[in-house]
Amino acid sequence: RGKRAFIAGVADDNGYGWAIAKSLAQAGAEILVGTWVPALNIFESSLRRGKFDESRKLQDGSLFEIAKVYPLDAVYDTPEDVPEDVKANKRYAGAKNWTVKEVVESVKNDFGTIDILVHSLANGPEVSKLLSETSRKGYLAALSASSYSYISLLKHFLPIINPGGASLSLTYIASERIIPGYGGGMSSAKAALESDTRVLAFEAGRKKRIRVNTISAGPLGSRAAKAIGFIDTMIDYSYTNAPIQKELNAEEVGNTAAFLASPLASAITGAVIYVDNGLNAMGVGV
Ligand code: NAD
Repeated sequence: RGKRAFIAGVADDNGYGWAIAKSLAQAGAEILVGTWVPALNIFESSLRRGKFDESRKLQDGSLFEIAKVYPLDAVYDTPEDVPEDVKANKRYAGAKNWTVKEVVESVKNDFGTIDILVHSLANGPEVSKLLSETSRKGYLAALSASSYSYISLLKHFLPIINPGGASLSLTYIASERIIPGYGGGMSSAKAALESDTRVLAFEAGRKKRIRVNTISAGPLGSRAAKAIGFIDTMIDYSYTNAPIQKELNAEEVGNTAAFLASPLASAITGAVIYVDNGLNAMGVGV
């Protein structure tokens, strides 16, 4: 039987989550996605209306299928955690069972188990503020949406990930080098995510022989990145200064994810893998 993957953080065809879904589908996996509740309607209707058909094309010309789209808000673990104003919000009221625990229960009821878990989501409400001007609330919100969300997903999925499976997240070099503009505690959130990758690799490895890695990706003009505001500058900077002077294609991150999730990577766990045209290795811009 082919493998089954759950990819959290797909709401259009521009981001890394979509590219990873496509590469995994190309490699023969069955694809389930988790879509942020407020983005659910537009994503599903765009899918239905064929808006993504061009980017759904696999090498043989067929279109890859998403077996099921689950509404998800990864900042809430259980229904008890959801505040009244969110429950009442009309963008949330139309969807059901979108807390992490409920999504995993639904996946279990629908499919039984998965083999691959991908976390491709981040959010920092104060990302455009300097770290030194970030509020406690904004900082904790960045960590909740971008770091703890991964712990929560892995914790709840672990019982239904088949032994030998793999888990992946997406990180950014602002965790270890100064990237002015990536503020609001987002740099801290990525540092936590990378550290957690090591500890979770140990725990999931010993428990179920599941591998846990994170991809440190170069800049991509996704919806989330455009919202931060400096993505075009980062893409230009990378093009000018990286060892390989070319645009970074989301597919290159997708293909790395497919490799890391496959038996070809059977001894790789707890790692931060750079997919950035080598920019991380530079000491100065030239
Ligand atoms: P994207 O917009 O395609 O993906 C982010 C997704 O997160 C969106 O679909 C959004 O709806 C979802 N999301 C936000 N809050 C959520 C929540 N509470 N619950 C569920 N989903 C939620 O953008 P992307 O840039 O491809 O981001 C994917 C990952 O890649 C993120 O972890 C990001 O930090 C990382 N990354 C991006 C870049 C880049 O330059 N774009 C570089 C390195 C790492």
